[in-house]
Amino acid sequence: MNKLKLVEVSKSFGGHRAINNISFEVEEEDICVLVGPSGCGKTTILRIIAGLETPTSGKIFYNNELWNEIPPGERNVGMVFQNYALYPHMTVYENIGFPLVINKQDKKFIAQRVIEIAKLLNLDEKLNKKPKELSGGERQRVALGRAIARRPKIFLFDEPLSNLDAKLRVNMRTEIVNLCRALRIPSIYVTHDQIEALTMGNKIIVLKDGEIQQIGSPNDVYNKPANTFVATFIGLPQMNIFKGRIINSVFHEENSLFTINLPLPIENSEELFLGVRPEDLFIASEYETMLKTVVKTYEFVGYETIIYFEHYGRLFSFILPKEKSRPKIGENIGLSFDVKSIHLFDSNGRRIVLSLY
Ligand code: ATP
Repeated sequence: MNKLKLVEVSKSFGGHRAINNISFEVEEEDICVLVGPSGCGKTTILRIIAGLETPTSGKIFYNNELWNEIPPGERNVGMVFQNYALYPHMTVYENIGFPLVINKQDKKFIAQRVIEIAKLLNLDEKLNKKPKELSGGERQRVALGRAIARRPKIFLFDEPLSNLDAKLRVNMRTEIVNLCRALRIPSIYVTHDQIEALTMGNKIIVLKDGEIQQIGSPNDVYNKPANTFVATFIGLPQMNIFKGRIINSVFHEENSLFTINLPLPIENSEELFLGVRPEDLFIASEYETMLKTVVKTYEFVGYETIIYFEHYGRLFSFILPKEKSRPKIGENIGLSFDVKSIHLFDSNGRRIVLSLY
């Protein structure tokens, strides 16, 4: 089983620490997604794996081989970037075959391999075209083809779909996932798009300021976020986070928006955070209402409507299913949520495990 492993890897540029103490493993069946806001260190991690940057400290292993001293050209890493980086004067055939030419493979082998890859990526009709004669999706497939020509040991994708329109992006996500699965190569995929992360990865690594916030399955990072950063970064619209305190196992929102009995005895606390996802809040009958508010604005997105309300200068939201009638802006509404759907975080924003659920 082929495996890439990073152990306590850090990288500083001058005095600035771009990544700090990063450790994770990627196995051959994994599509590991690095997700986080701009500047959190995603590209730096890929560049260190590819050998284009030297870590300030820490180790990189491919299986049991220490990669730190192995030059980039000998690591055999397949990389795919946002801007395709195709050679404009070469045909599709020449672009895909280029790494094999550089590697001094014989012509017959190159022809066989390029044709095999072109079939795999549905480019066999385009082999004589130049990149400018191709659509964005086809160009990205050529870039994929070039990346797999040398049967790489690992695959690195750096926001490869950012230049494509929304529909093509969705199709290409599936193509990339299928390709990685078929080739069984440890794959790392960088994105700042959390939907892309959840749909493509089986292992998600959420980063902030060069540090790992959580490693988990899509289900883990969505349903059991390790802290308030992950809770609000993963999921759209973002999780509502209410600040408050706990007295006798009752959460009191700080500005008296609501109180809720917690399902387990929990220590009194002066400051902590309660999270509720927008899809877990709903318009309630007078009898069920937990919090009263006023509709501030809404966004109609076809299959549902996102309704926003304001409380002490902050916006919160909930999802109104398509079949429900929409309240008007300015209308008074009563909302409720199930205690089973809440997330609790301590004063440092770290998840408090409510082991009942
Ligand atoms: P984005 O999503 O915007 O591409 P990212 O998560 O990929 O961002 P990196 O490009 O890895 O982030 O950058 C991480 C931090 O390291 C940033 O603060 C960046 O300015 C800094 N950095 C990256 N490369 C260099 C460099 N060669 N010299 C100095 N600072 C750098």
